[in-house]
Amino acid sequence: MPHPATAVRRPYNFAAGPATLPLPVLEQAASEMTDWHGSGMGVMEMSHRGSEFMAIYTEAERDLRDLLAVPENFKILFMQGGGIGENAIVPLNVSRAGRADFIVSGSWSKKSSKEAAKYCDAAVAASSEDNGGFRTIPPVAGWQLRDGTEYVHICGNETIHGVEYQTLPDLKALGHDVPLVVDCSSHILSRPMDWSRIGVAFAGAQKNVGMSGVTLVFVREDLIGRALPICPSAFDYKLVADADSMFNTPPTYAIYIAGLVFKWVKAQGGVAEMERRAVERSSLLYRYIDGSGFYRNEVDPAVRSRMNVPFFLPNDALNAPFLEGAKAAGLLQLKGHKSVGGMRASIYNAMPVDGVRVLLEYLQAFARQHG
Ligand SMILES: *Cc1c(COP(=O)(O)O)cnc(C)c1O
Repeated sequence: MPHPATAVRRPYNFAAGPATLPLPVLEQAASEMTDWHGSGMGVMEMSHRGSEFMAIYTEAERDLRDLLAVPENFKILFMQGGGIGENAIVPLNVSRAGRADFIVSGSWSKKSSKEAAKYCDAAVAASSEDNGGFRTIPPVAGWQLRDGTEYVHICGNETIHGVEYQTLPDLKALGHDVPLVVDCSSHILSRPMDWSRIGVAFAGAQKNVGMSGVTLVFVREDLIGRALPICPSAFDYKLVADADSMFNTPPTYAIYIAGLVFKWVKAQGGVAEMERRAVERSSLLYRYIDGSGFYRNEVDPAVRSRMNVPFFLPNDALNAPFLEGAKAAGLLQLKGHKSVGGMRASIYNAMPVDGVRVLLEYLQAFARQHG
């Protein structure tokens, strides 16, 4: 059942990450590949300290700060190591080897808590693992936060389980005046961020921001300069911040691509427009799945992700034909994560609403044929 337009359109790519990018960004990068703005050099070939790359870097930082309304008392760092790197880098910088509490709402926050335990007294303050296997976020009222905890880590959007915080918790109201550390790798730039509740936020770029290789790190200034002695210099927020992310060679090309994506987001109408589209895409999908009588999503509707929509077919024998037909219809990388099974449609900022409409047509046709 290939979509009639398959022959002429680019396939829609529902990968969880690295993920689809805005076509104009790819085209611009291609056109500038061998000569950036008449400099006679491609971006990959530039010194990170030269005036050309400094211009790229400065503009990317400024655009990102504008887009997310990042306050002046936060530094934005462009680091390496990915989200998984930050699982170690955050406690190395912020924990003072004391306590840190973790809210475990899916695979990613679970991984974060395990890694942090190498560097500090990390404890799980609440987990939704036993409650049907990460289908919800543990209710805030039940969080067992400890006195003296330095920070509370949450994963804003659990990419694998499709669970997303719709608001950031207010720790002060719980009697703990400590900052949140937020892993926002898979939903950054799809909603505004409440900086008054955040101490550190980090995001690997390869979901919503660009290509793999650069990690965006937002750090409140009072949390900078307290790294443990064993923290590698290249990961010490103070050294990186003092050098404007040039303590060592930064991932220059990945920063350039992120900068192009920031410009694209701005041109589309900024984070407010990204959020509007995310709501539209995800509600189209959930509404159809819930009413289909064929597919199912098992996540608590109150915390369903706008970015990653896991769903199941009535039986696993249908998975292979489903994926085969999807590929033929120009709908790529819909296979669910192996730990969850089933399917997953990742619908990041760069996914047009039309991509979801074409996916819906395919879902309907497949259900008619196999229901
Ligand atoms: C993808 C992802 C990561 C891992 O990022 P890497 O760049 O592979 O280290 C961490 N957290 C979340 C929520 C993710 O989606």
